[in-house]
Amino acid sequence: MHLLILGGTTEARQLAESLAAEPLPGLRVTTSLAGRVAAPRTPPGGVRIGGFGGAEGLADWLRAHAVDALVDATHPFAGRISENAALAAAAAHVPLLALRRPGWTPVAGDDWHPAASLAAAADLLPALGRRVFLTTGRTGLAAFAGLDALWFLVRSVDCPEPPHPPRMDVLLDRGPFTLAGERELLQRHRIDVVVTKDSGGAATAPKLTAAREAGLPVVVVRRPRGPAGVPAVTDVLQARRWVREASARRHDGRPPAEG
Ligand code: NAP
Repeated sequence: MHLLILGGTTEARQLAESLAAEPLPGLRVTTSLAGRVAAPRTPPGGVRIGGFGGAEGLADWLRAHAVDALVDATHPFAGRISENAALAAAAAHVPLLALRRPGWTPVAGDDWHPAASLAAAADLLPALGRRVFLTTGRTGLAAFAGLDALWFLVRSVDCPEPPHPPRMDVLLDRGPFTLAGERELLQRHRIDVVVTKDSGGAATAPKLTAAREAGLPVVVVRRPRGPAGVPAVTDVLQARRWVREASARRHDGRPPAEG
């Protein structure tokens, strides 16, 4: 059985790691990465890098590489590849599962300002602060390029390209981040407002705690809606179970023993 994981997230890597550490009999795993990050953390198993050429290209790839099951473990904000995965899986008759970590929920003391898009987040900013900690990634900075009265600390894995805000410092880093580190960052740069996507997960959550402690407003960009009708799970263990069941169906109903 050949499993393709659409990756680029901690969960995708953890699923590949879990299936490598405790393999299911007869299972071969390939992870696909978009190739956005210059030096990606590669998971165990097979890895391919780069786009497929839309939904049709992905469907062709599934057929050409005899893929039996597909897990879309891409980032909750990677909307296009998830749409393509749904179309391609249907066209190639390959079972599809979405692995999506849950979004964050505010707690007492949080001052969150929801925004429907990066553009909507940019519209909210001038009323909320002057020194912005922008953690939405290096793509999409164009939405903030017109805010020349504000200063931005942009944190991203690789260096952003224009268009971007005219007044900004770039901090090249990738999670997981610590609460102590996030506290120090907010203080050192005299941040008065934070912008984040509702990515969910523990690796980048400490900025939310640090902002709450400092009484700072946080603009939270809402997730796009995923494709309709795709079964979804929220953690790696559930995804592993789904892979095992898909594998069992392929073995004429005889479930392979868990490793
Ligand atoms: P996107 O807008 O949904 O996808 C754009 C195109 O990139 C897709 O149409 C596809 O090209 C290619 N692509 C995306 N993910 C791929 C994958 N895993 N394997 C092969 N091709 C892929 O995605 P994005 O927002 O640019 O994100 C790109 C990657 O970065 C994703 O894998 C995602 O998991 C990861 N990531 C994204 C974010 C975020 O905030 N968006 C954050 C962290 C990590 P073709 O149409 O040519 O196949």
